[in-house]
Amino acid sequence: MSWTERDKKVVWHPFTQAQTAAEPMLIERAKDASYYDSEGRKYIDINSSWWVNVHGHGNKRIQEAIAKQFGEIDHVIFASATHKPGIELAEKVVDILPEQYSKVFFSDDGSTAVEVALKMAFQYWFNKNQPKKRILALEGAYHGDTFGAMAIGQRGFFNRPFEHFFFEVDFLSFPDGENNGEQLAQGEKLFATGEFAAVIVEPLIQGSAGMRIYDKEWLNTLLQIAREHGVLVILDEVMTGWGRTGKYFAHRHIQESGDIICLSKGLTGGVLPLGLTVTSDKVYDAFLHPETAKALLHGHSYTGNAIACAAALASMQIFEEEETWKNVDRISRRHADFLQQLAKYPIVQKAESLGTIVRFEMVLSDNTSYFSDLRNTIADHFLQAGVFLRPLGNIVFFNPPYCITDSELDQVYDATVSLIEKLSQ
Ligand SMILES: *Cc1c(COP(=O)(O)O)cnc(C)c1O
Repeated sequence: MSWTERDKKVVWHPFTQAQTAAEPMLIERAKDASYYDSEGRKYIDINSSWWVNVHGHGNKRIQEAIAKQFGEIDHVIFASATHKPGIELAEKVVDILPEQYSKVFFSDDGSTAVEVALKMAFQYWFNKNQPKKRILALEGAYHGDTFGAMAIGQRGFFNRPFEHFFFEVDFLSFPDGENNGEQLAQGEKLFATGEFAAVIVEPLIQGSAGMRIYDKEWLNTLLQIAREHGVLVILDEVMTGWGRTGKYFAHRHIQESGDIICLSKGLTGGVLPLGLTVTSDKVYDAFLHPETAKALLHGHSYTGNAIACAAALASMQIFEEEETWKNVDRISRRHADFLQQLAKYPIVQKAESLGTIVRFEMVLSDNTSYFSDLRNTIADHFLQAGVFLRPLGNIVFFNPPYCITDSELDQVYDATVSLIEKLSQ
């Protein structure tokens, strides 16, 4: 039996309709910005392995940090016990976030970082004897796949079987420019009810909605209004963190900086699962009380995994000491130049870039659903051209590891142009 046959027999893949899906690619090796298949053929990992990888695969420094940490502490309980890599990571993360951030809660991935943020927000008000039940989110939002995270995300296609279990959430329509003022007024009206525990956003860009970029002044104003009404602001920087938008975090593009911030994806350089929910003393202090029941009674078996912490520390050192920011700027500039090149093709629409992310839509007919054949045509075309890409329907986006070379970027851009020319005929 081949490996892919063995796979089909026993593996249930995420976000995959096994009855119709193409065979998954068997990856034998991953190094720098690329995957290698069993024939040694190279594929550029243009979506950074589900948006997590920032320094490339097989990074020596992260490898050494992991090996060293394993020799000291692999994994230990994180309640009634602590360890140096956990403490150091918390210190460093607090250091690079705005002033109000002072306490770090550890979990396992982006969804759990968001669940923890929600539980903190609800319990914050509960502990203050002012229980508030409402949450404001943005239409099109994606915050993860656990129940709380699903509830505050876009309803519909991806979560219909569960929808009747979700708590009530108010959604502001996406600020696409036309009614931006109205949405702010709507937000203000909702906050003024005094019933909102928190507002949560993916700052500046919605990832799973199709890398939708929105106005930073609008966001800043919404968050300012929330703060003025005492509504807690949760920034889900799971996707936007770690240089993705051109700065360390997306909130660095605006003045408001929230009360709770969720981090994961690129946190460990994209090599080990880890989630962080970082908050202020204002939130933390609401949980201090002689009664245990006022504490955040939440945790996971792998909370504070020491090896993941060591990987995250190494990743932060790479940001500080290597050419990471130069590469982030280089990719950002190249993406922006590439956009100019796309302008002349009528089938390419809504082409935009933000930092190391560039996105555009291929519009042929009404063939734009998640299942559309166009999606598969696009993915196949790139695969043939040596680029591993996972489009969102007809939306193509590149968010590469920062070590991607100029010639690899050229290969990706050339493959894009040849796709467009093929589809324009
Ligand atoms: C990916 C993502 C999550 C969920 O993270 P997982 O690690 O996949 O659970 C949450 N929020 C945003 C903005 C994301 O992009």
